Amino acid sequence: MQLQKIFNTEAPNQSTRIIEGECSGILNWNDIRMPHMYKLYKVLLLNHWIADEIPMSKDAQQFAQLEPEEQRTFKINISLLAVLDSMQTMFVGDVKRYFTDSSLEAISAIIGQQEVVHNQSYSYVLSSIVSDQEQKEIFEYWKNDPVLLDRNRFISEIYQEFRDEQNPSTFFRALVADLILEGIFFYSTFAFFYNLARDQKMMGTSQMISYIQRDENQHCYFFAEVFKQLLVDFPELNTKENMDYVYTTIDRAVQLETNWAHYTLSETPSIDLNELTDYIKYIANKRLKLMGMEKAYQGVDSNCMPWIRPFSDDALNATKTDFFEAKSRNYGKVGDDNGFDDL
Ligand code: ZN
Ligand code: ZN
Repeated sequence: MQLQKIFNTEAPNQSTRIIEGECSGILNWNDIRMPHMYKLYKVLLLNHWIADEIPMSKDAQQFAQLEPEEQRTFKINISLLAVLDSMQTMFVGDVKRYFTDSSLEAISAIIGQQEVVHNQSYSYVLSSIVSDQEQKEIFEYWKNDPVLLDRNRFISEIYQEFRDEQNPSTFFRALVADLILEGIFFYSTFAFFYNLARDQKMMGTSQMISYIQRDENQHCYFFAEVFKQLLVDFPELNTKENMDYVYTTIDRAVQLETNWAHYTLSETPSIDLNELTDYIKYIANKRLKLMGMEKAYQGVDSNCMPWIRPFSDDALNATKTDFFEAKSRNYGKVGDDNGFDDL
C-alpha cells in the first residue's frame, strides 16, 4: 500500500479513498470527505484528561485492605490493560501513515495520543499502590501467563500481519481486530473495576477506567466508520469469505473474553458469570451493528449489566472520595457517552 505523500500538489485536497487514494495532504476540516469526522475530532478533544489529575491516596489505603484474591485480579487486569493499550499505540501509528485522507490521519494522531495517556494511567495507578519492584513484576505477567498470552497473541498476530504486509485485506482484518480490542476485550475488566466501585472501593482507579471506557467508545466509533467506508471504497472486499471472517473472529474473541472472565472473576461472587457472558455477547452484537452488520447472538438484546458503563460526573460526585475535591476543569466537557454509545 502507498504511504500518504506529505506534499502532493497534483492531488485534490479532499481525499478520493481512505487508503490507496488521492489526497494532497493538506488538512482543511471544512473540506473533508467524511464530514462527521469533524464532530468526532471535537468530541475527542473535549474528552481530554490526564491521570495525574486523579488523586490516588484513598485507593492506596484501600488496596492494602482488599482480599488477596481481589488484589490478584486487580493486578492482572491492570497488566492486561497495559498490554492492550501498548499494542494499540503502535497499531494506530501504523494505520495512520497509510490513510490517504488528512482528516483520518489527524484523528489517528489524537487517538494514538489517548492510548499513550491510557498507558500512563496504569503506571500511575500501580505506582500509587505497589512498590517499584512489584510494578515491574506486574508488567512482566503478560509474557508468562498462558491465558493472558492467548488472548493478547490473538490480536497481536493480526496487527503484526498488517505491520509486515500492508494491503487492503490485511487492513480489513486489522480493523476487525481493532474493534475487538477496543470494543470487546476491555469489558470483563471494566466489570471488575466498576464492581469494586459499587462497593465504594478503589474509586480513583474506577474513575480512570471510566475515562478510558469513554475514549474507547469513541475509538470504536471511528474504526467502525473506517471499516464501513473501506467496504464502500473497496467493494471487492465485501465477500462472503470476509464477512465469515468477521463473524468467526468476533466469536473467537467472545470466547476469549468469556474465558478471561472465568479465569479472573470466578472468586468475585457479586459478578454473575453467566450474566457477564450474555453481556459480552450483547456488546459483540453492538460492535457488529456499528460495523453495519447483522447481530451474531440471539436473546441478548438488552443490557443485563447496565452498571458497566462510564460513571457520569454526577454519579462520581454522588460518592465521597478525595477526587471530588479535585479542581474543576476550565474547558467544556461533553456527555459521558457523547451520543455514540447507542450506535
Ligand atoms: Zn486505550
Ligand atoms: Zn482505543
